[in-house]
Amino acid sequence: MKRNDETKKRTALEEWRLIRRGIRIVNEMLPHFWLYQILCTFTETLFPYFGLYLSAQMVNELVGDCNYERLLRLAVITVLGGLFLSIAGKLLQSRRNLCEAFMYQKNDIYMSDAQNDFQYEHLEDPNVVFQRAKIHAAIDAMGAGLYQVKWQLCSLLNDLMGAVFSASLTVSMLVMTARGEYTGVFAFINSPASSLVILSLILINAVCSVRIAAVRGVRQQRLMDGVAEENTRLNAFMRLWGMDMIFFRMDALVLKELRGHLRPKWIEEEEKVTIRYHFLSILLNAALNLCVFLFVAAKAFIGVFGIGNFILYQGTTQRFVMSVSNAAADIGRLKDNNRYLAFLFEYLDLPNDMYQGTLAVEKRDDIDYEIEFRDVSFRYPRTDEWALRHVSMKFKIGDRLAIVGENGSGKTTFIKLLCRLYDPTEGKILLNGIDITRYRYDEYMALFSVVFQDYKILGFPLGENVAVSQIYDETYVRDCLIRAGFGDKLASLDGDPAVKEKNSLRRALWRSYDAEAIELSGGEWQKVALARALYKDAPFVVLDEPTAALDPIAEAAVYEKFNKLTENKTSVFISHRLSSCRFCDSIAVFDHGQLIQQGAHDALVADAGGKYSKLWHAQAQYYEGA
Ligand code: ADP
Repeated sequence: MKRNDETKKRTALEEWRLIRRGIRIVNEMLPHFWLYQILCTFTETLFPYFGLYLSAQMVNELVGDCNYERLLRLAVITVLGGLFLSIAGKLLQSRRNLCEAFMYQKNDIYMSDAQNDFQYEHLEDPNVVFQRAKIHAAIDAMGAGLYQVKWQLCSLLNDLMGAVFSASLTVSMLVMTARGEYTGVFAFINSPASSLVILSLILINAVCSVRIAAVRGVRQQRLMDGVAEENTRLNAFMRLWGMDMIFFRMDALVLKELRGHLRPKWIEEEEKVTIRYHFLSILLNAALNLCVFLFVAAKAFIGVFGIGNFILYQGTTQRFVMSVSNAAADIGRLKDNNRYLAFLFEYLDLPNDMYQGTLAVEKRDDIDYEIEFRDVSFRYPRTDEWALRHVSMKFKIGDRLAIVGENGSGKTTFIKLLCRLYDPTEGKILLNGIDITRYRYDEYMALFSVVFQDYKILGFPLGENVAVSQIYDETYVRDCLIRAGFGDKLASLDGDPAVKEKNSLRRALWRSYDAEAIELSGGEWQKVALARALYKDAPFVVLDEPTAALDPIAEAAVYEKFNKLTENKTSVFISHRLSSCRFCDSIAVFDHGQLIQQGAHDALVADAGGKYSKLWHAQAQYYEGA
């Protein structure tokens, strides 16, 4: 994996645009978060100043007139005001916490939502898959991207408010002078020049903070990039965890590999440099604070202000110095985080360059649709090999078409083109004589009900899985399940005395989702997938070897049954087992991406020199009597 050594220089406007988009996305994910954060920061920042200001007034009163009435008034305001600010602060905090709850999950939902609009090609593109893994790994390692925008902006808000609150008192302290005549150091302290020196030191410290944050940020992010790399590697290994690991004792090998990666030398080196920058910034701040302390103390000493105000000015000036320097560092970190935002936005903005047609697909009562492949060839993106070459074929509604051929012969690719997951590289696919790219994409997709090899069933309740909706026609769902061969299981589930939920359509399918979930066998999962295809009631039903896990005889039985279920529809079955498809009207034989034979089973078997006949005889021994 390549390190993310993005060195692209951006203008300040470009940097701001990235942050602004980040703020907008956070607002979309966590509505009202920013509003509550601003209010919270306001009360949190005001609180210490409020206490500091009133305590100073009380000390002044004590060492001054010591008027009990005024002292009592100040004490009441301090207590009640403090109480009000803490209650308001806590209430606002709890609203803000509610807004930001589940950000991790909301971020996942946001990403998945964006992915739904991707063209299918991106989902199979290894570079895109890797890009996504890296985004997640960077989030896991350091919350890079949107999380950092949120954290750093909250911190910046806090520091800026701190700077604003403390600025007025700091400035008034700087401009105040004593009336007396002084010589030497005290004359300098009492002159405007000393205030300018202190202000300049504060500004120099802020500039240094930005520089240190930038250098430290680059180091730290280089470190985090490395951690992200290791996370990506770890996640890939973790996905492997399963039966194989246990049976082949692969765990020992994998763990050794993982441990080897977890403390690479470069991390230690990066960490050493990073810590130096940390120390540098701590030392600079401490030196400046010492100067400020001596300066304020000297002013109090020569009588510019009283002992009460010494406490106030000391506190606020230190706070001003800290806030300005922290705000500068926050800006530096926000800028550093922008490369992760740029990386994320590049992913979210992946172009969908599939031609989006505008024609409505004709809704025909007679569902009389005809599909034609006209000299279609196809190469997968970033490959030189043809996966399909010069394929021409027609099929009408009601036809039962089987696609057979050895592994890698182009069967699945044929289906992907039929369902417009990809567009042909050459040639055309026509629906009722019109190029399918000219139809509205969603309407064209709605014509197909496909059960893919690696069909996915969700952990949600059975009924929702079949209908792919929370609202469904229960009778129709049951009918589809029964037609898919799930009837006996459904009856036994409905009558299960061990569970509270008597309507099995409402029971979940994953144990991790619900303790009363239904346990299904491999064959039963597949029946649920078939029932889902039936429920969609689309004119074209495609089965792409979803039965690969079954034995040939069981597979043939499923296909034969499905033939009957889809009588008035066009069904396309894919299998590399010929016995499963022999009942189809037409069988298309693929070989190395080419359609080499097409016809009924008997005719194809009779063609002794043909591929089909050879495959049939080679496979027949396995299903004698089938
Ligand atoms: P079948 O379904 O008959 O087993 P496929 O249609 O899956 O065959 O594959 C046909 C050819 O296309 C094979 O050479 C395969 O390696 C290649 N292929 C399939 N999917 C991809 C992909 N996503 N990217 C690149 N090549 C692919």
